[in-house]
Amino acid sequence: MKNLLRILLEGAYTNIKRIFFAADRVTDMELRKKILTGKVEPTPKVAETPCIGCGGCSNACPTGAIQMKDLEEPIEIAEGLIKRQIPTLDSEKCVYCYYCHDFCPLYALFGEPGTIHPNDVGIVEFDVKEAIEKPVKIPEEKLKFITQFLSDKSIIEREKTSRE
Ligand code: SF4
Ligand code: SF4
Repeated sequence: MKNLLRILLEGAYTNIKRIFFAADRVTDMELRKKILTGKVEPTPKVAETPCIGCGGCSNACPTGAIQMKDLEEPIEIAEGLIKRQIPTLDSEKCVYCYYCHDFCPLYALFGEPGTIHPNDVGIVEFDVKEAIEKPVKIPEEKLKFITQFLSDKSIIEREKTSRE
């Protein structure tokens, strides 16, 4: 009974501290101000440089949160591999299922961090040409599964040819 009373008093004291002195607050004042004034900038979701524009993330997204956007100038990232589009992610439609991340072939084929992710991608230093030359580390079955979701299958074709 004594212990119960002590727990209740401690709980009440902690809550009073939280209410009146904002103790335990994890949101700093600058971020609070941004939230209250509607000025929070979404963090970058796509690392545009390493992305090969295959459209896999967009096809795999169950909520239609990812749209492929045409590049002004197509980029030849390796012989026979031209990047024409990059994905854009609408955070309001995202349900954080991580399918986009898991189906990104740069992640799936090479075991490197994915280029698209619901959280901040930060700065990704990645040499696509170098990565493409690496041997595929995943089994044929998994490759077939991933291929269903890719718009541009040229990367898979390249791997098949290099294996033959
Ligand atoms: S994490 Fe978001 S953007 Fe990615 S596939 Fe899921 S719903 Fe779509
Ligand atoms: S799946 Fe990866 S490489 Fe393909 S478009 Fe999306 S982010 Fe780019």
